[in-house]
Amino acid sequence: MSLTKVVGNGHMQSRSIVLKTAIRHLVERSLGRLPLRMLLRASGLRTLQVFYHKSHHADPVYFRQGYAVKSPEQFEAEIDYLLQRLVPVTLEQLLAAKSDQDLPEGSFFLSFDDGYRELAEIISPILQRKGVPATFFICSSLIDNKNWLFEDQIGLVLSRVRGLSQADIAACESQCLQPHGLTFSSLRRIRVPPAKALLELGEFLRIDWDTELAQHRPYLTSEQIHGLLRNGFSIGAHGIDHTVFESLSLDEQLRQIDESCRAVAEQFDLRYRAFAFPYGEFGVNRELLLRVRREKLIDCLFGTRGLVIDEFEPWLRQRLWCEGHAGTFESHLRSQLGAAVLRHWRGRNVVNRRHQG
Ligand SMILES: [Zn+2]
Repeated sequence: MSLTKVVGNGHMQSRSIVLKTAIRHLVERSLGRLPLRMLLRASGLRTLQVFYHKSHHADPVYFRQGYAVKSPEQFEAEIDYLLQRLVPVTLEQLLAAKSDQDLPEGSFFLSFDDGYRELAEIISPILQRKGVPATFFICSSLIDNKNWLFEDQIGLVLSRVRGLSQADIAACESQCLQPHGLTFSSLRRIRVPPAKALLELGEFLRIDWDTELAQHRPYLTSEQIHGLLRNGFSIGAHGIDHTVFESLSLDEQLRQIDESCRAVAEQFDLRYRAFAFPYGEFGVNRELLLRVRREKLIDCLFGTRGLVIDEFEPWLRQRLWCEGHAGTFESHLRSQLGAAVLRHWRGRNVVNRRHQG
């Protein structure tokens, strides 16, 4: 039976969708068996742009556990996997490229978001040993542990709450969260700093935020960032306080981009301005991007949409997140590349904002 004949019959239609999905997964899996470099070429990409956040052996008490962090050994094995198949490129190479044709075919670009201290303590020594360049995107207000990343405050709150009785948890929720329209469940997913709720949670749970910050020191210091730059790594900005851009007014979006880039560039005397959107550039208006480009506020922007080509490439590039995925690193890359090849063949692997509302 032809698939077109069953349209109109809900049951048959859903069967056809299931069939199409199954065929697509089968093709993706078959494509995924091709050599990585060939797969990259078939997807229309020259550079595999990937990002991580950190690497550690054990989750610190403030880690919100929204994704699984790779151990240093796992991370190193993943870098070896890439190095055996692709050539690393630097941010400087990306900035100098007028188009992707100026970049080596079969290359990869490695970056890290948020600015955790493990970048200097664990990631950088591994990358230096292997001669792999990387770019670290840092929230400007976190440098030198001057502030908390709100996700880590939430992580610390949740770890304290785990030791409480059900009655105390309920009291804490009704007193500190509900007045702000929050619950413990929504707190796990929130992408905007819940400043007032965190102050009240701190009082209820007897968390002294400043003391905890000084004790844990989760983020890079200026000295560590200078060290990363001396060792040939590059630094970009990642917003002031990691607020999701979808929640912000246009003026506030501009402020987050401009202020964080300016702060990082001035403090570390950088000749370039690179910016990675916290949680990606979803919901960011095309006009705002055009304005940022016209006013030359930033040399290069990075999103998190995966293995797609952005309409504003090479100025705005998309990256694939390599934590929190199912299966192995290799299967993650291969299935993502397989899907990118299929989208490329159908002419659908380009982010186009012209039709956004
Ligand atoms: Zn981030």
